[in-house]
Amino acid sequence: MCALIERFLQFLLPSQCHCCERFLEEGQKGICPDCLSKIRWIEPPLCTLCGAPFLSGEIENHPCGACLTRGKYFTMARALGYYKGTLREAIHRWKYEEKSYLTLFFGEKLAVGFHRYWDPQSFDLLIPVPLHPKRLRERGFNQALLLVKELSQRTRIPYSKGLLRKRIPTPPQVNLSGGEREKGVRGSFHIQKDEEIKGKSILLVDDVYTTGATVNECSKVLLKAGAERVDVLTIAHAIKQL
Ligand SMILES: [Zn+2]
Ligand SMILES: [Zn+2]
Repeated sequence: MCALIERFLQFLLPSQCHCCERFLEEGQKGICPDCLSKIRWIEPPLCTLCGAPFLSGEIENHPCGACLTRGKYFTMARALGYYKGTLREAIHRWKYEEKSYLTLFFGEKLAVGFHRYWDPQSFDLLIPVPLHPKRLRERGFNQALLLVKELSQRTRIPYSKGLLRKRIPTPPQVNLSGGEREKGVRGSFHIQKDEEIKGKSILLVDDVYTTGATVNECSKVLLKAGAERVDVLTIAHAIKQL
C-alpha cells in the first residue's frame, strides 16, 4: 500500500500490531509491547566472521567451525536478532506489505546495531543486496534498499542502488544446504561500474542472513572489482545457535 494512504488510514482506523494484529492502546505504535518483548536479540559470544551466536556464554568471540573450514569473502557479518518468532513474522509482513512503520522501526534498530560494531568513518559506501529485476517488479520494492536508505540517513554514509546488480534469478533456496545455496547464487551478481567500487570499504545490507551464500557471493564480486573490504549487516540471522 502507498505510504501516504497508509498514513491517512492510520488517522481513521484504530492501529493494530503489525505482528499479532491485536489493537494497540493509545501511545503504542506499530508493534505491541508483548510482541516487542518476545524478539530475541543476538548477544555475544559470536562467531567473529559470520556473527552466529554461540550457545555457551562463558566463551569469547571466535570463528565458528563452518567459517574456519569454508572461509568467507566478507570480513565480518553481524545481525540484530534471531530469524524466528516475532522478528521473523514482522520481517515477513514488511517484505510483502511494505509497512512504512516497520521500515522506520528496522531502520532505527539497524542504526543502533551498526554503531555497536562499527564506526561510520570506516565505510565509504552502503550497498543493498539487489533483487533480480523480475522479482523487483513483482514485489514493487527492494527491502534491502529501504534499509540502506534509513541507515544512510542515520550514519551519513552514502549509498548506491545500482552498482551491484543481479542478472540471474536465484532458484528457490528453501531446504537447500549451504553448499547447494552457494552453487545456486554463483555468477548471479555483477558490478555496473568497477571504478566506483575500487578501493572502497563497503557495508552490504540485507534483511536476513540465512546461510550467508548470497552476501558471500556479493562480497566476492565486490572484492574482485577492487573493493578494499566488505562487511555485512542484516536485521536477522537464521542459523541455529551454535
Ligand atoms: Zn503484537
Ligand atoms: Zn561463522
